Amino acid sequence: MTTYLNFIDGQFVKGSGEGFANRFPTTGEAIGDVSAAGRAEVDAAVGAARAALKGPWGRMSVQERVALLRKVADGINARFDEFLAAEIRDTGKPRSIASHIDIPRGAANFNVFADQILTASTETFEMATPDGGGALNYALRLPRGVIGVVCPWNLPLLLMTWKVAPALACGNTVVVKPSEETPATATLLGEVMNAVGVPPGVYNVVHGTGPGAAGEFLTTHPDVDGITFTGETRTGEAIMRAASTGVRPVSLELGGKNAGIVFDDADLDATLEGIGRACFANTGQVCLGTERLYVQRGIFDRFVEGLAQKARGYRFGDPFDGATTMGPAISAEHQAKVLSYYEKARAGGATLLAGGGVPDMQGYEGGYWVEPTVWTGLREDSPVVREEIFGPCTHVTPFDTEEEAIALANDTPYGLATSIWTTNLGRAHRTAKAVEVGITWVNCWFLRDLRTPFGGSKASGIGREGGLHSLEFYTELRNVCIKL
Ligand code: NAD
Repeated sequence: MTTYLNFIDGQFVKGSGEGFANRFPTTGEAIGDVSAAGRAEVDAAVGAARAALKGPWGRMSVQERVALLRKVADGINARFDEFLAAEIRDTGKPRSIASHIDIPRGAANFNVFADQILTASTETFEMATPDGGGALNYALRLPRGVIGVVCPWNLPLLLMTWKVAPALACGNTVVVKPSEETPATATLLGEVMNAVGVPPGVYNVVHGTGPGAAGEFLTTHPDVDGITFTGETRTGEAIMRAASTGVRPVSLELGGKNAGIVFDDADLDATLEGIGRACFANTGQVCLGTERLYVQRGIFDRFVEGLAQKARGYRFGDPFDGATTMGPAISAEHQAKVLSYYEKARAGGATLLAGGGVPDMQGYEGGYWVEPTVWTGLREDSPVVREEIFGPCTHVTPFDTEEEAIALANDTPYGLATSIWTTNLGRAHRTAKAVEVGITWVNCWFLRDLRTPFGGSKASGIGREGGLHSLEFYTELRNVCIKL
């Protein structure tokens, strides 16, 4: 049993909140205890972050900070296997995913934003004045201050460092509230921070749940200068309300109900490969995943059968076994949520092409398993087609024209991501421009250049992360006007 402590001012400390068990989703076994932070520890963490900002961290040059961030990346890589095991135990996700995506990206984020901050510039303007002397304006990029970082469980280290790395690169200090489901890698990162010499108080971690607990204590704390959040849209609304007191800025990466659009001229094999991942990877627990598919009528039957085959091809089991390709849902609660939609699809008269239930998992009966599932035949107003399920499932609807596909894809309150599959260049450009989302992929999915803007429109979020866009959120620009 591991006990996950809070990490405050460079020390691992017990919390005064109500602790809880950490479970291995593959078996349901309790494998750890999480020591939850109460209000006192959240206060202490925010205080430590403020002190570090005024202390050594605030006095460091960009070059010194960057050198430390690169050491953090090296420190994660040096303990790669420990981070990998911790992430797998928290999530049940297969080693093949965590070793290729979660941990390498977790480390890479520190190098990416070290590079970004070194090359970031600000604007200058010369202006004329009536006396002929003129004036010079230039902008200073200053840290925002203490940043509250609230994270989800689906890509724990990756999404947390996607915020922490640029926040630190810009000279801020952070208090991180990892998801209650996945406390391990954020805690382990505290050890790396100490080992490489990041000053105490720069990186702090408080554990616990959201409402009435660490999440709420942090986001309502008056001495937090900005809040960055990834998670559900409803939680984002609560955090935005909390941030309105004191008019504090928020960056919100929220839920989605992402559409895939497949035209009849698409390369069918490549499309099935890409869409298969978009629907089922990480047990469908990817914010960018595809839960609605619109497929042109001429290839509809062939496509649906091909996708059902992909769904049937996954291998469930021990996530540490390299042959396992699909893990369980994150928790019993989330499994029940996903299965409730499977039941709604059945009750709504869906045609089931693959999955639809719980796989037979001898030896892993206590795990939170759900089958990858493909349906057709539901109306567009079905909750299965409208609401984010966050499971390995998708509904496929036929369409005839480009206009119809775009209208169907846009008929949602969300606006995170779309993938478009076609070999017609003009159609690809037109459709990419017409879909109301923050991220569009053409003939690919989840292909990420970390310098590009990342984020959602409509109910999927506010702001963009990635490259310079992250620096915009984590810095305050101050204009200096000098009369010459
Ligand atoms: P969640 O909103 O339930 O929880 C996220 C975090 O917020 C957790 O740490 C939780 O403890 C905390 N929290 C909950 N209520 C809070 C409150 N009132 N005040 C402060 N903190 C609170 O989300 P989740 O279930 O962990 O993650 C899944 C969701 O995240 C999905 O909706 C998914 O689409 C979304 N997501 C979005 C992106 C993106 O980039 N847009 C990426 C990954 C996940």
